[in-house]
Amino acid sequence: MLILTHGDVERLLPMPACISLMAEALSARARGEAVQPLRTILRVPGGAGLLGSMPAYVASPPALGVKVIAVYSGNEAAGLASHQGGVLSIDPTTGALDAILEGGAVTAIRTAAVSGVATDRLSLPGADDVAILGAGVQGATHLDAIHAVRPIRRLRIWNRTPARAQALAARARERHGIHADVAPTAESAARGAAIICTVTQAREPILKGEWLTPGAHLNVVGSSTPEAREVDTEAVRRAMLFVDARESALNEAGDLLIPIAEGAINQDHIRAELGDVLIGRHPGRQSPAEITLFKSLGLGIEDVATARFVVTEARRLGVGREVSLF
Ligand code: NDP
Repeated sequence: MLILTHGDVERLLPMPACISLMAEALSARARGEAVQPLRTILRVPGGAGLLGSMPAYVASPPALGVKVIAVYSGNEAAGLASHQGGVLSIDPTTGALDAILEGGAVTAIRTAAVSGVATDRLSLPGADDVAILGAGVQGATHLDAIHAVRPIRRLRIWNRTPARAQALAARARERHGIHADVAPTAESAARGAAIICTVTQAREPILKGEWLTPGAHLNVVGSSTPEAREVDTEAVRRAMLFVDARESALNEAGDLLIPIAEGAINQDHIRAELGDVLIGRHPGRQSPAEITLFKSLGLGIEDVATARFVVTEARRLGVGREVSLF
């Protein structure tokens, strides 16, 4: 069995490769070639955090496994990332445990890669004015993902704690040669932007629909429980809504469930799953003035497909540590 660390995963999983991989996995699911129950969420008593369990199978290339991920939003004080855990990659032929991968790196890269797929398919071809709201782990990988699919002419970063936005702006300069402005408010970052990524742990809206420009594309990634949301009702009401999985959205997405409870929209507001757009079952954006919103919850198929790719690369390049469990 192979053990792959955070650094191993980062080294073996370039963003452009992960974007292609995620498009393949979402397409496979849309064609009915994947199995994925709704994830189980255990709320740790006392409110310290959540433990999610995400099993999944993809037929081709064959991938089976489960991600176990703990989300402890107060971890920063302890110098730890908020997302902790691992992906168990399982041999689909024998059921044998084949590899364990550090789960935070897989989550960081594959989530942004899926937003990269959505941005590539749903944003306007010339979209080059980008706002990133949130400068944590996902803020950084979303910058990499948007950079991989669109040339960024203007970049604004807003974060609740400005020092972290400054650090992400420095990363944009060093890694991609892009100048970024640190925006004093979410509104000043979002107004006029053609691509907006919300990647925070906010529980109340940080983005308002009244700020959105016609033609904008949004990746709404941060909130993943029914009672939390990053965007207000007006933003969802104005947008053509796409999701990674309908079942996940209707069970987990406060961004959608709260406007439904208010009576502002109903379930039919979801136009399609992203996989349907990828395989041509839905046309996606239908006019330049439409606002498109991709609501990401995160799927087990994304984790197991990523793990399979990383494990194959690791064995090819001799990366990681093989151990015997027996
Ligand atoms: P980090 O812990 O690295 O960063 C958290 C970010 O959220 C920071 O920018 C932080 O700002 C900000 N934040 C926290 N509370 C608030 C608030 N009340 N208002 C505004 N901003 C706030 O987390 P990640 O980057 O790893 O994850 C970001 C979000 O994305 C999380 O909610 C996570 O659960 C979600 N996620 C979704 C996935 C998906 O597949 N859809 C996958 C992985 C993560 P500050 O610096 O000021 O603390």
